[in-house]
Amino acid sequence: MSEQRPRDVRQFAGTTEASRAVHGGERRVRAGHPLAEPIVQSATYTFDDTADLVRYMEGHGGEGREEYGRYGNPTVRAFEEKLAALEGTADALAFASGMAAITTTILAMVKSGSHVVLFSDCYRRTRQFVTGFLDRFGVRATLVPPADLDALEAALTKDTRLVVSEAPTNPYQTVLDLERLAAICRPRRIKTMIDATFATPINLRPAAHGIDLVVHSATKYLGGHNDVLGGVVAGPEGPISLVRDLRHVLGGVLDPHAAYLLHRGVKTLAVRVAQQNRSALALAARLEAHPRVRRVWYPGLASHPSHAIASRLMSGFGGVVTFAVKGDLAAVSRVVDAMKIPRIAPSLGGVESLVEQPALMSYFELSSEERLALGMSDDLVRYAVGLEDTDELVADVLAALETP
Ligand code: PLP
Repeated sequence: MSEQRPRDVRQFAGTTEASRAVHGGERRVRAGHPLAEPIVQSATYTFDDTADLVRYMEGHGGEGREEYGRYGNPTVRAFEEKLAALEGTADALAFASGMAAITTTILAMVKSGSHVVLFSDCYRRTRQFVTGFLDRFGVRATLVPPADLDALEAALTKDTRLVVSEAPTNPYQTVLDLERLAAICRPRRIKTMIDATFATPINLRPAAHGIDLVVHSATKYLGGHNDVLGGVVAGPEGPISLVRDLRHVLGGVLDPHAAYLLHRGVKTLAVRVAQQNRSALALAARLEAHPRVRRVWYPGLASHPSHAIASRLMSGFGGVVTFAVKGDLAAVSRVVDAMKIPRIAPSLGGVESLVEQPALMSYFELSSEERLALGMSDDLVRYAVGLEDTDELVADVLAALETP
């Protein structure tokens, strides 16, 4: 009997982010269907006979049927469907890394002569791709100051096709007024793209605020275990099908094993992010009151310039706390080295807390003066909380701050 049960019967998608993280996009086709998503490790798919092939080519192959690994894979599709359910978008596409998602999406939106506007604090490699690579192909770019929507509006031209930002941004966690951004761009038919890696769909769903395309480095919170690289873009059918067509050509597809890990990771996203929100807020509040700390940037603090916007748009403020420790680069390094819980590593969003000094990581090749000109002082620390106990995490950082 249950063998005959049509698709979608007893399928619970959930109305809250926590339930959708577990059940959203899940396919329960029949009794005996595996509960965990199978890893379909195949580069290609077969046809019964030539008539079957022709039926497929004519578009009558049946839902979910795949042809070749670069064009689709059921495990990857399961991850994409879950992400679309979480973001509240018509569709989503997965890629081999966050940068593969970002570069393919941007490329699909522009042509020679197009103009792109980026907020100057968007992800460094995204900026590099647009300003240092696409310019070779006649795509022009303008950088505008963080969250400055008046500057954005002034920068728009008749050729502007795309506006790109991150929300919150790295490392200062600025949150843009997404609704106003959408209100500026929509009537001009300019696409908006938000990198919401730091927020995750648990804390912020940019599509609900009028944003066209949402991208993530799935390497971070979506995977959540610091063990897999991946990326995703979510949005409406039209733009997503342009991105899909280009992915078929550029080929930066997600591997089925990686898709399995990401799909599995997302099931625990809501509880992980809730805990990381809690720990980061507690850490930020204690740091702000500490005499050794010059300044803290965390959108959950009333002192953060984006606090009002973040409180309106976000249901949690994320797991990253940026702070400046009084002292020179070496003194700040001594404080970082004295921390016993976090490991020193790039990245964020996994179960292990990670810490880094931007001056010694992303901006290492620059002098102190050059870093300062970019707004990156030598006393900065970026702390990405993991899932260790909140009180232990906070106590560890406070003890390290006693280091001379
Ligand atoms: N976007 C943000 C905000 C990031 O932090 C990163 C990586 O650090 C990326 C995109 C790129 O993602 P990936 O490393 O998965 O290519």
